[in-house]
Amino acid sequence: MTVVMKFGGTSVADPDAISRLTGIVRQQRAKEDDPPLVVVSALAGVTDKLVAVARLAEEGDAARAEAELRTLLERHVSVASAVTSASRAAVLAHVNKEFDELIGLVHALAVLREVSPRSYDAVLAAGEVISSRIVAGALADHRVPAEWVDARRVLVTDAEHNAAVPDMLGTEERVREDVAPRIAAGAVPVLGGFIGAASNRATTTLGRGGSDYSAAIFGAALGVDEIQIWTDVDGMLTADPRIVPQPRVVPQLSFAEASELAYFGAKVLHPSTILPAVAKNIPVRILNSRRPENPGTLITADGAPAGTPLTALACKRDVTVIDITSTRMLMAHGFLRRLFEVFERFKTPVDVVTTSEVSVSVTIDDTRRLEGIVDNLRNFAEVSCEREMAIICAVGENLRADTALFGRAVTALERIPLRLVSQAASRRNITFVLRNTDVPHAMMRLHETFF
Ligand code: ADP
Ligand code: ASP
Ligand code: MG
Repeated sequence: MTVVMKFGGTSVADPDAISRLTGIVRQQRAKEDDPPLVVVSALAGVTDKLVAVARLAEEGDAARAEAELRTLLERHVSVASAVTSASRAAVLAHVNKEFDELIGLVHALAVLREVSPRSYDAVLAAGEVISSRIVAGALADHRVPAEWVDARRVLVTDAEHNAAVPDMLGTEERVREDVAPRIAAGAVPVLGGFIGAASNRATTTLGRGGSDYSAAIFGAALGVDEIQIWTDVDGMLTADPRIVPQPRVVPQLSFAEASELAYFGAKVLHPSTILPAVAKNIPVRILNSRRPENPGTLITADGAPAGTPLTALACKRDVTVIDITSTRMLMAHGFLRRLFEVFERFKTPVDVVTTSEVSVSVTIDDTRRLEGIVDNLRNFAEVSCEREMAIICAVGENLRADTALFGRAVTALERIPLRLVSQAASRRNITFVLRNTDVPHAMMRLHETFF
C-alpha cells in the first residue's frame, strides 16, 4: 500500500514534534513494502511571520523585516540542530542559504516599497522549502532513506499567484519523471506542501492552508492507496473545537460531506483537498500526530453507513449579506442572469443564495470589490448590505432521508435571529445565516441537539 503522509505546521513545530514525525514515518516504512511520500508544512506560525515580513517590506521597513527574519533563522537553526546528526552541516548550510536569499529579496522589496503577488509567493514559499529540508535531514538521520525533492520542480501550476491552480497533467509528468522512480528504488521523497511553480519557473503558492491540497495532488498523481493528513486533532470533529468545547470525532464521512465542511470553515482540511482525491477515488484519512494510535477520520466516496443523523457542523464568520430588491423586475426573465453577471464580473464567489417574491439575498466572503458590485447592482435594483454576519452549515448525507432533521435544527435555534435559511438541492446541508455575535450560542445549541 502506498500512502502520502502530510504533516501540518504543529506536527513539525519543534524538535519533539519532528521526532514524533520520524517515528510515525519509520513505522509506516517498516509496515509496508512501498515507501510513503512525505509532505510537510512550514513550522507552526512561520507562514504568518512571513506574511508580516512581506508587509514590513511593503512599508519600506527593511530593518524590522530583516530583524524578524533573523529571529526566524535562529528558530530554524535551533530546531534543525536538535533533530539532525550526520546531515546537520548540510541542512544548516541550506537553512542559512535560504535565509540569506530571503533577506536579500526583502531588502530589494523594501527599497521598491512594493510586494507584487509574485514576490509575495517567493517570500511565503521559504517556510516550506526550509521545513522540508530539515525534515528530510531528520528522517535520514533516523534510519529512513529520505530524499528531499524540490516541490517547485514537481507541482506545476498556472500563474495565478497566491491562489495558483494545479496543472494536473504537467504535475503527473513531473511526478512520473522525478518522484515515482525514487519510490520504486525504495526512497522516501520529502516535499514541501503549499508551493509550486508556473511554467515560467516563478514560484507560486496554493493559498493559505494549501499543504493539504499539495498532498492530495501528489497522491492523485502517484495513484496512491491513501492520503493521510497528520494534524493536531483526532480527526474531523463534529464542530470547530475553538467554538464548541469537546466536539466528537467523526469516524467516517463522504467526500461530498468533507468538501462542504471544509468549504464552510472546517480548517482541518483545505477546501480543495478533496478534488484530486475524488478524481482518483483515493481515501483521505485525518490523523493526530500526537496520538498516532487513534483511528482518526476516514473520508471515502460512500461515507458513513446510513443512520447517523448529522455528520458535523461548520461555520464561516465575517461574511456580508447583500439584499437585492426589485419590485417590478424580479420575476422578469434575465434578472437573475444580470444579477449574477455582476458577481462574475467582479470575480466574487457567492456562497448562499435565497430568493423571495421581490428580493434575492446572497452572501459573499470576499468584500474587496463590494463597492463596485453594489454600484453595478444599483443600476437595476435596490441594494442593501449587512456586514459582520456568519454562515453555519449543518452537513449530513442523511438530511435527505430524514426530513424531521430540518425542523429539529430550526427549533434548536429558537430565539436566535436567522437572517437566511437554505437547504441545497442535494439536501446534504442546511445553511443558516446569522449575526457573527450569535455564532457561539447557535453552534452550542445545534451541537447539543444533534451530538
Ligand atoms: P495543520 O497545521 O495540521 O494543517 P490546521 O490548523 O490547518 O492544522 O487545522 C487543524 C485545526 O482545525 C484544528 O486544530 C482545529 O482547531 C481546526 N478545526 C476547525 N474546525 C474543525 C473540525 N470540524 N474538525 C477538526 N478540526 C477543526
Ligand atoms: N504553511 C502554509 C500556511 O500556513 C500552508 C499550510 O500550512 O498548509 O498557510
Ligand atoms: Mg492546515
